Amino acid sequence: PTDRPAPRAEIVVDLAAVRHNVRVLRETAGVPLIAVVKADGYGHGMAPVARAARAAGAEWLATATPDEALGLRAAGDTGPLLCWLSAPGEDLAPALAAGIDVSAYSVDALDELADAVRRAGPDAPPALVHLKVDTGLSRGGAAEADWQPFLARARAGEQDGAWRVVGLWSHLACADEPDHPANDAQQDAFERALALAADIGLRPELRHLANSAATLTRPGARYDAVRCGLAVYGLDPAPGVPHGTDLRPAMTVRARIALLKRVGPGDGVSYGHTWVAPAPTTLALVPAGYAEGVPRHAATGPTGPAAEVAVGGRRRPIRGRVCMDQVMVDLGDDDVSAGDEVVLFGPPGEGRPTAQEWAEACGTISYEIVTRVGGRMPRRHT
Ligand code: PLP
Repeated sequence: PTDRPAPRAEIVVDLAAVRHNVRVLRETAGVPLIAVVKADGYGHGMAPVARAARAAGAEWLATATPDEALGLRAAGDTGPLLCWLSAPGEDLAPALAAGIDVSAYSVDALDELADAVRRAGPDAPPALVHLKVDTGLSRGGAAEADWQPFLARARAGEQDGAWRVVGLWSHLACADEPDHPANDAQQDAFERALALAADIGLRPELRHLANSAATLTRPGARYDAVRCGLAVYGLDPAPGVPHGTDLRPAMTVRARIALLKRVGPGDGVSYGHTWVAPAPTTLALVPAGYAEGVPRHAATGPTGPAAEVAVGGRRRPIRGRVCMDQVMVDLGDDDVSAGDEVVLFGPPGEGRPTAQEWAEACGTISYEIVTRVGGRMPRRHT
């Protein structure tokens, strides 16, 4: 029990929403779910989100880096866990010793992996590898011209007992635009990789291609497992594309008004006076700024609309530049007191803007909005 006032500003993460989204995704996909919890669970808190995802039935978790995956092991996670982004020369032996599946996408990486397997020693669990092929994202993954030597090296390692190839996977470039021709082209390329792997004698039991958007909009891309990040957090991975899936945003960012200030016509507000009050109005000082991850683009500039917040259930715009520690919000003549709650974004309802609306106002994507918030704001899980 506490009678302390609510924090200055905080992130509240609804783990029941995460559990709900995981259940929805598993039902929709009909194949095992790899819940992606990299980047501190897209800003939601990696370990609590991981626990919630497991509790709701996520068979797999995935991170980008081995360090993130080791962090999950340190937090007590013992289930199937994949990481896919290591730097050349990075020692994978600790990840292997912790029973973390690793990814590789070149002959060199497989050679390094063979060394790591030796270093992990005979007591380490069998090394489990997911082979990444580039099917058209032109990012990580073996380029098609290199598939033959890459897959052959993977097979040789399997035959000499260095590892078991459990996965073959790729990542889509345009899944949020279901009609984009790159989707079909990438899936065709993925099929070619699978056929070549089979010719070489590889039998990966986990073929995975789909991120959240493809999981919801492209049933043919689900294969043996889907790798969902954004949808686990309840955010729409393909805004504007109907998919009929009931996802619940898990994150709310809220603050308490630190100060109310009356300004008159002609008063310039915040740095650079990019906004000048046209008429008398009341401004609320909201104590979260770009150090808390509020994008500087959230401000009303000479061009473009401002991001909005909810005060007393009503939408109110940010005015003037976002500062390091605070932003100003235009309350008009609303009857509001210092200490009252402001919701920057959260699940829809009660006037709250969503992270997606913030993303649109800031010229970015909801991934960036939620992944960046933090700084001095405490995060609380409910
Ligand atoms: N797979 C890979 C390789 C990724 O990098 C990501 C995230 O960026 C995901 C899956 C999850 O994507 P999404 O959050 O769109 O579901």
